[in-house]
Amino acid sequence: MSTDRAVIIGASHAGAALAAHLRREKWSGDVVLIGDEKTLPYQRPPLSKAYLAGTSALDALAIRGADFYDKQSIELVDAAVTAVDRQARTVTLDTGVMQSYSTLAFCTGARTRRLTTPGADLAGIYYLRTAADSASLRSAAVPGKRVVVVGGGYIGLETAASLSKLGLEVTVVEAADRVLERITAPVVSAFFTRIHRESGVVIRTGALVEEFRGDTQVREVVLAGGETLPADLVVVGVGIVPNTELAEAAGITVDNGIVIDDRARTNDPDVIAAGDCASYEIPRYERRLRLECVAAANEHAKVAASTMAGGSATMSALPWFWSDQYDLKLQIAGLNTGYDEVIINGDPERDRDFTCYYLRESELIAADCVNRPRDFMTSKKAIAERSPVERAELGG
Ligand SMILES: Cc1cc2nc3c(=O)[nH]c(=O)nc-3n(C[C@H](O)[C@H](O)[C@H](O)COP(=O)(O)OP(=O)(O)OC[C@H]3O[C@@H](n4cnc5c(N)ncnc54)[C@H](O)[C@@H]3O)c2cc1C
Repeated sequence: MSTDRAVIIGASHAGAALAAHLRREKWSGDVVLIGDEKTLPYQRPPLSKAYLAGTSALDALAIRGADFYDKQSIELVDAAVTAVDRQARTVTLDTGVMQSYSTLAFCTGARTRRLTTPGADLAGIYYLRTAADSASLRSAAVPGKRVVVVGGGYIGLETAASLSKLGLEVTVVEAADRVLERITAPVVSAFFTRIHRESGVVIRTGALVEEFRGDTQVREVVLAGGETLPADLVVVGVGIVPNTELAEAAGITVDNGIVIDDRARTNDPDVIAAGDCASYEIPRYERRLRLECVAAANEHAKVAASTMAGGSATMSALPWFWSDQYDLKLQIAGLNTGYDEVIINGDPERDRDFTCYYLRESELIAADCVNRPRDFMTSKKAIAERSPVERAELGG
C-alpha cells in the first residue's frame, strides 16, 4: 500500500486546482482536500457579480462537479484543520480526527478585514467573502433600500454595480481621494466614477467613516466632519487578511503571507503553500508580493503540484486580473507599481472602452483594458516577453 498522501488544507480556487493538477502530474498516492465551507469548491468572483445580482445560481458556481472528485479519487473532507504537527506529519481536524500526510499544502486563503469603528457590530452590516455572505446580502437587497458601500476598491465597486442593477439606492464611501486609488491611474479611477454616476450610484471620495448608528439595526453612517448618510444596509469592502495563523503556529515562515519560493515550497520542503495566503517573488517584476487573484492561485497550484509530485516547474506566468461592472469587463495585465507614464488608447471621458498602458522608463509594464480583449491579449504577451513596443502602436 502506498504511503504517499497529499493533504491540502483549504478547498477553494488554489486547493481544488492543486488536487486536480496532482492527478495530472500522475501523483498516484492519496489526495485529501480539506475545506471548512460545507460546499463543493466554488468560484468566488461571481459573489460580487452575477451571483449577487441574481443572474447565477449557487450550483453554477462549483469549480467542478462532485463526480470529478470521485473519478479522480480526490477525498473531500468537510472540516476545519485546527493544528499541524510537522514532526509527526499529522493534521488535526475540528472533528477530533487526525490525518497523516507525506506532503502538505496550505491553501487557506484569506478572510475579510473587519472594521472596528463604533457601531460596526450592528445588524445590517455585511462583508463579502463566502457564498453564504453573498446569499445573505442578496436576501437583504430589496429594491428601493439605501445601501452604503464602504470601500471603493474592486469588491466595493462590483458590489455597488450589482446592487444598483437590483434597484437599490447605492452610495460608495471611499477614504482616499479617488476610487481604485491603490491599483489604477487617475484616469481609470475617473472613468469608473463616471460610469457609476451615470448609473445613479453616488460616489463619495475623501470620506472617512467614523461611526455606524442605529438601535440594533444600522440606520445611518456618520462621516468624519459629522455628516450622516441614511442606510438600510451597509456593505464593507476594505481588504482581506491572509489566513496564516495555522502555518505560523506550525513553524512555517510568514511575512505578509506564507513565504514560498519559485516552486511553491515553504521553509519546510515537504510543505507548500498556494493562493491568497502565499507571498512569492514574481519573476517578471522581481518583487515579493501576495496577490489576491484567481490567476495567481491557479499558477501557484500548478507549480505546487509539480513540486509535490517530484517535478521541477517554477513560477513563470504574468499576473493578471479582471473585474466586471455593469456591461464593462476590465482586464488587467501585469502590475503597474512604479509606473512613470501612462498612454491612453480611446476616450475614457466619453466611451465605454479604452486601454490604459503603464510604462516605466519607456518599458510597458501593465495595461488596464476596458472592453478591449484584444488589447489585453497583446499587452499580456508583450509585457511577459518584455518585447519593445512603439508608442505609436499603443495609440498614444
Ligand atoms: C467577492 C469577491 C470577488 C472577487 N473577484 C475576483 C475577480 O474578479 N478576479 C479575480 O482574479 N479574483 C477575484 N477575487 C479573488 C479570488 O476569489 C481569490 O483570489 C481566490 O478565491 C483565492 O483562492 P484561494 O484558494 O487562495 O483562497 P480562498 O478562496 O480564500 O479559499 C481558502 C479556503 O480555505 C478554507 N480554510 C481556511 N482555513 C482553513 C482551515 N484551517 N481548515 C479548512 N479550511 C480552511 C477557507 O474557508 C476557504 O474555503 C474575488 C474575491 C471575492 C471575495
